Amino acid sequence: MPYVPPNLGESAENSAGITSWKTKAKDVAIVCGCLAGLYLGFGWLAERFAAYIPASWESRLSVAPTPPAEDDRWFAEYQKTLHIFEKLRSTEKLREIPYALFLVEMEEPNAFAIPGGGVGVTSGLLEKVTTEPGRAMVLAHEFGHHEHRHTLRRLGRALVFQTAMALLFGQTANPFAEVSVAMAELSYSRDQEREADEFGLRLVKKAYGSTAGTLEFFEMVEKEDLGLSKKWQTMFSSHPITSERIVYLRELSRELDKK
Ligand SMILES: [Zn+2]
Repeated sequence: MPYVPPNLGESAENSAGITSWKTKAKDVAIVCGCLAGLYLGFGWLAERFAAYIPASWESRLSVAPTPPAEDDRWFAEYQKTLHIFEKLRSTEKLREIPYALFLVEMEEPNAFAIPGGGVGVTSGLLEKVTTEPGRAMVLAHEFGHHEHRHTLRRLGRALVFQTAMALLFGQTANPFAEVSVAMAELSYSRDQEREADEFGLRLVKKAYGSTAGTLEFFEMVEKEDLGLSKKWQTMFSSHPITSERIVYLRELSRELDKK
């Protein structure tokens, strides 16, 4: 009698393989879901935790800057900016962390705040923003991110790990400084930008008695926005300049100067 293969219908398509593939996919989805949940939950907790980190802990995350040498082409501009930086710092009683000004040689105009009190400006920014009020506003905005602990909040999960490492091994063995710098370039929320803007403008007003000229940079960016070059995109990505933001800044500026 010849062999008649049984009719297995759809199950003939290697039922074991299909089932295991589906099961595996389901398992992977469950694991991914759990990991995402943990990540989000832990990030949320870390952000809450960041609000209570004492300044002395945050200070341990600080990294000392290497200012440009006297024969460096940016020496004079760095010194000028440092003078503005110190003026702003001594104007207001800020959180007690070791504030320090960093210069990063980079064509893109950008500025950022680093956990531990660091404020970085790029050489591209110093090239574009040459006036004292213009630079003061950019620096004061970064002081605002420090004052409201935005850098700490944003670092979230990474910060918890980093703080633990700094506490365990001290500041010198802090291999995560680079991670924090990279993360510092991520976007802040719109609310955080507004908080930093408001703090910054008030700080400049207090230090200089006027907000005149402070928006020069923002207005210049707004103009250049028309033909948005790659150069500006970095500045936009970490501190997006929207027309709504400019309108708000102008209003606040007028309000402050009335006083
Ligand atoms: Zn910002």
